[in-house]
Amino acid sequence: MQLDVLKETAKTEPGSYFVANYPPFSAWKPEHVSTALAALEGRSDVAGSVADGAAPLGLYLHIPFCRKRCKFCYFRVYTDKNSGDVDIYMDGLAREIALYKRCAALDGREFEFVYFGGGTPSFLSNDQLQRLIERINEHWRWDAAREVTFECEPGTLKLSKLRTIRRIGVTRLSLGIEHWDDDILEQNGRAHRSAEIGAAYAWAREVGFAQINVDLIAGMVGDDEAKWKLAVERTLALAPDSLTIYQMELPYNTEFTREQRQGGAVAVADWATKRRWVDYAFGQFEAAGYSVSSAYTLVKGAAADAAQRFVYRDSLWHGADMIGTGVASFSHLAGVHYQNLDQWERYLDACRAGELPLARALPISHDQRLIRELVLQLKLGRADADYFRRKFGVDIRERFADAWRSLEQEGYATAEDEGHRLTRGGLLRVDALLPRFFEPQFRDVRYT
Ligand code: SF4
Repeated sequence: MQLDVLKETAKTEPGSYFVANYPPFSAWKPEHVSTALAALEGRSDVAGSVADGAAPLGLYLHIPFCRKRCKFCYFRVYTDKNSGDVDIYMDGLAREIALYKRCAALDGREFEFVYFGGGTPSFLSNDQLQRLIERINEHWRWDAAREVTFECEPGTLKLSKLRTIRRIGVTRLSLGIEHWDDDILEQNGRAHRSAEIGAAYAWAREVGFAQINVDLIAGMVGDDEAKWKLAVERTLALAPDSLTIYQMELPYNTEFTREQRQGGAVAVADWATKRRWVDYAFGQFEAAGYSVSSAYTLVKGAAADAAQRFVYRDSLWHGADMIGTGVASFSHLAGVHYQNLDQWERYLDACRAGELPLARALPISHDQRLIRELVLQLKLGRADADYFRRKFGVDIRERFADAWRSLEQEGYATAEDEGHRLTRGGLLRVDALLPRFFEPQFRDVRYT
């Protein structure tokens, strides 16, 4: 599906619209891997390389295991691995992270943020988690990190595991609730049920994380107005520090799109309905004292409160470097995007051979860095012209005058003294609005 055709009444057709990066992943190529390796060696003569030792550095660890594959999931995850396989993977991951210690571009730098994502990081046992951290700590420490996030699936948690997660330095726990209705959870292939959510949340509070985020998805198969309102009410009753709401989409290569191809009916609410439901949730949470901090997120109290910040997101959206480790992970370093090998054996073979497991890369131009930050920061609801003038020497109001004009005419943005602000309507459909800022060759590109 083209990214700019998501109209008010559009049905949820197969395809991805969520803009996670720029340029799109389909533009990343194996022939650019050598450029990524040169950037890691700290060579400033490579195309795209903008080595900046002052840029914040993050570490992403991909834990690609889940108890069950959700029917809407297109991530590289495994549901058939036993504990021996998990140990083998964790050995590869620890080797990969150790390899980065040799990279000149990382010399003397420390991680400001760490993110355990998946898959399901909480799938790991206490022992596996503890052993991984011990191996990593032989080379890297994150005592000084401003934030360590850990994604959890409620049904994988126990009090003892949450204590281990806290002990390894996690400050931000992210709990994938998605919905509270057991029939909806079942229809969408989720592994957990509502009873596990309450227990997991109570244990997490008992252990005492600096910040607990919970995720919901608006428009899961089987959802309706009443069930969504109840899900919002029950989530509000938890009083999380942060709430993230995604709008359900149907990426290619999922169980749902396979069912559709075989003639099955997959009833996902249309885009207008999903936006209305997210808007309802925003309103309920705002009335309870939360602030909207991005197109997907609400935080308790003032968004400026340091305890409620999301360092991982804000750093990436402002051009931080990030080393993505694990099978199929994405990285950005010194102006070069790259992605790891996405096949289990090939990824592990490379790590065991002492080679970084890179598959494809893309050095990005000064202008592409500007566009990348602009579209990602617009998800926060505002573009600050002064920030872009100082960082890129460009006045984004002039450079993108046509895009701003069209957004204003459509009622999705308003001009301010120092930039543009999205209206609530614009914020709720922000991903569909972003391609107008892209270079022409990427406007209709599939976002994978
Ligand atoms: S829990 Fe997340 S990563 Fe795992 S199958 Fe479901 S959506 Fe995919």
